[in-house]
Amino acid sequence: MKVAVIGAGCWGAWSAYLLQQASLDVALIDMFGAGNSRSGSGGESRVIRSVYGTDEIYVKMVAESYPLWEELFEETKTNLYTETGLLWMAQDDTAYLDDCAPLMEKWGFDLEKIAIDEAQKRFPIFNLDDVKHCYFEPKAGLLEARNCCQLLARTFVKNGGQFIQSKLEKIEEKNGKCTSITLSNGSKLEADFFVFALGPWNLFQFQDLLSEIEYISRQEVYYFGLPEQDSNNYTAQNAPIWLDYNPDSDLYYGLPSHHNRGFKIAYDYRTIPFDPRKDDRNPTPKLVENARKYIGQRFLKLKNAPLVEARVCQYENSIDGHFIIDHHPRMENTLILGGSSGHGFKMGPAVGKFVQSFLVNQSSLPSFFSLQRFEKGVANQSQFGQSA
Ligand SMILES: Cc1cc2nc3c(=O)[nH]c(=O)nc-3n(C[C@H](O)[C@H](O)[C@H](O)COP(=O)(O)OP(=O)(O)OC[C@H]3O[C@@H](n4cnc5c(N)ncnc54)[C@H](O)[C@@H]3O)c2cc1C
Repeated sequence: MKVAVIGAGCWGAWSAYLLQQASLDVALIDMFGAGNSRSGSGGESRVIRSVYGTDEIYVKMVAESYPLWEELFEETKTNLYTETGLLWMAQDDTAYLDDCAPLMEKWGFDLEKIAIDEAQKRFPIFNLDDVKHCYFEPKAGLLEARNCCQLLARTFVKNGGQFIQSKLEKIEEKNGKCTSITLSNGSKLEADFFVFALGPWNLFQFQDLLSEIEYISRQEVYYFGLPEQDSNNYTAQNAPIWLDYNPDSDLYYGLPSHHNRGFKIAYDYRTIPFDPRKDDRNPTPKLVENARKYIGQRFLKLKNAPLVEARVCQYENSIDGHFIIDHHPRMENTLILGGSSGHGFKMGPAVGKFVQSFLVNQSSLPSFFSLQRFEKGVANQSQFGQSA
């Protein structure tokens, strides 16, 4: 079977790699290259964690993804994962964490509840004065995002796969099937099966299908400079990833400094619409100031820390915050992988595994990610169950 995978972000790259491992003939296509700066997978780092409220499917997918990440790093003798643990700081509403505790136990993850004074001793760089509850997820860490995608694409090519850097221009369909795609290099690619993993560009490619159920949001990420005297306390070797979970308010999260880049902080709130085809990626001064104010309160020694780097990225959101993994309704030999909604990187291996099992073992796709769910009506929310 010949398969064309279009899009070499985390989801497309994992799909191509796993299909190739199952001995299928695979072409991987991307217009800017794997893990490029405009793609959702293109930053320095992404968090892998397993707390997911009552959504067991994600806890299971994280549990399935860990060994696949590990196997990739072993096969390539390249480690792109750093375990830091994740400190959750919460106010009154802790249901998202408490509800997940039994699911985590079931899937082999620990979640420690820590008294505030104990947490303050363990994690001295944090100011926990206004925090009511702390939880610690020891098996959590960061994945070097762009490097992971490039490693997958390189390994795919090394193992005999065909990588084409070109733009998908046109999809030909006939009798309920996709017959070929035309690329901007002038070639026409025929295949038995087509996997479209275009990230936010899914929305433009499949406008008729997705315009009512997806939106793209502009997301900003900042790196602040570390204090000169004790910078080592703010690195991934000594500090955890953290998430300030407050469903009624702003949701900031951050990663300790890795590869000496600075202390990373991001704001999960969906700000304004974003068009990855043409919008500039300069940070918004007001949002930088908000982040600086927040960080100065939560990490006292980072008060007035200089901004050393910033990135503007985008989320490809489905309106209910859940992934979309389904056929295009008009073309049975296709899959659309989309709606990663700001939390899809960690689970790239599990998404690729769905694609592999579907094509190789004829396994069914999870109905949780079907397009059909939108016909019944869904709540407008983010991955954390907040209204979005
Ligand atoms: C700021 C930020 C922080 C995040 N943090 C986390 C996190 O901590 N943990 C986590 O799990 N997830 C996180 N996410 C989400 C995660 O990064 C995304 O869900 C994931 O990377 C999406 O991967 P993808 O392969 O679906 O899409 P993308 O990475 O966007 O890949 C799509 C690819 O398709 C290509 N393409 C598009 N159209 C065409 C075309 N016509 N022809 C050829 N190629 C095309 C593009 O060039 C691109 O490379 C974050 C996202 C952002 C933006």
